[in-house]
Amino acid sequence: MSEQIYVGVDLGGTAIKVGICDAEGKLLHTFEGPTEVAKGPDTVMDNIEKYVRLIVEQSPYDWSQVAGVGAGVAGFTNVKEGVIILAPNVGFKDVPIRSILEERLGKPVKIDNDANVAALGEVWSGAGKGIDHCVCYTLGTGVGGGIIINGRIVQGFSGLAGELGHMAVIPDLEAIQCGCGKMGCLETVSSATGIIRMANDAVERGDRTSLSLVESITAKDVFDAAKAGDEVAVRIVSRAAYYLGKAMAAVAVTLNPERFIIGGGVSKAGEFLFEQIRETFMKLTPDPVTRGVSIVPAELGNDAGMIGAAGLFLRS
Ligand SMILES: [Zn+2]
Repeated sequence: MSEQIYVGVDLGGTAIKVGICDAEGKLLHTFEGPTEVAKGPDTVMDNIEKYVRLIVEQSPYDWSQVAGVGAGVAGFTNVKEGVIILAPNVGFKDVPIRSILEERLGKPVKIDNDANVAALGEVWSGAGKGIDHCVCYTLGTGVGGGIIINGRIVQGFSGLAGELGHMAVIPDLEAIQCGCGKMGCLETVSSATGIIRMANDAVERGDRTSLSLVESITAKDVFDAAKAGDEVAVRIVSRAAYYLGKAMAAVAVTLNPERFIIGGGVSKAGEFLFEQIRETFMKLTPDPVTRGVSIVPAELGNDAGMIGAAGLFLRS
C-alpha cells in the first residue's frame, strides 16, 4: 500500500471530526473526539494533533502515506498565511494554525473556512462531482456560501468571497439587522434562525396558525405546518425560498455556475422547498443564463467538512 492519503479535519465547537480520503475523495476512515474549547487553544491544538495521529494509527495506512492535512473551521481565516483570524466557536483568535500543525505533524497543512471546505467536498465527491462551476449554500443557523469556479475555491481579494448569506436582498422596508451588523442580509430570512424568527413574530402578532400551539418552534415545525397547509407557515417558507431564489439569480448572472447545491438542516425540507426556489430562480434569471443549470440538494451531509478539508490539497 503505497498510495497517498489525505487527512481532513472538521474543527467544530463541540467535536473535532477527522477523516482519511483517497485521491478520488472517497472517505475511508473517520474519527471523532471532543474539541474541549473550555480548556483553551493549546488543548484544542493538542487534540487535533492527537486525533490526526490516532486515525492514521487505527487505519491500515502508514503515516508515511499521509500527503497532507487539511482543516476547515467556522470563522474568518487567512488562507494564504494559514491563520485563523477569528473563530469564536473554538476560541481561536489570530492562531497560526498551519505553521503550528506543520511543525507538530511534519506534514504540509492547509486551512479554509467551513463553508468553502464543504463546497469543495461536494464538488470533489458529492452533488457537484464532475461539475467545475458550482455555487453552494448551507442553510443552517446562518447561511453559508462557497463558490467553486474551474474546480477551485474562489477566495477573492482578502479571502471573503462566497459570503453569500450576507447578500443584501431583502427590501429596505422589510429589512432587519443581521449578525454582521448590516440590514437586509439573506440569512435574516432564509436560515433556520430567520424562519424561526418569522414564525415567532407571526404567533406574537396573533396570526391564526397551528404554530401558536408549539412551545419552542423549530424550522422543521414550520415546514411540517406548511406541508399540512397552514397558511402562515406556507407564507414563511415561500418567503425564505423566494429570497434565496432571488439571491441565486444575482449569483447566476455574475458567475454563470452550472449547478447550485443547497445543504444544511433547512435543506432537509426537500422538494417542497426546492420547487419554490427553482420557481423564483427561473422567474428572475434571464433564460439563456438558466439553461442547463440545476439546483440540487447536497449529498455529503456532515461528512462534507472532512472530505473538503482533505481535498484542499488536490482541489484548491
Ligand atoms: Zn449579514
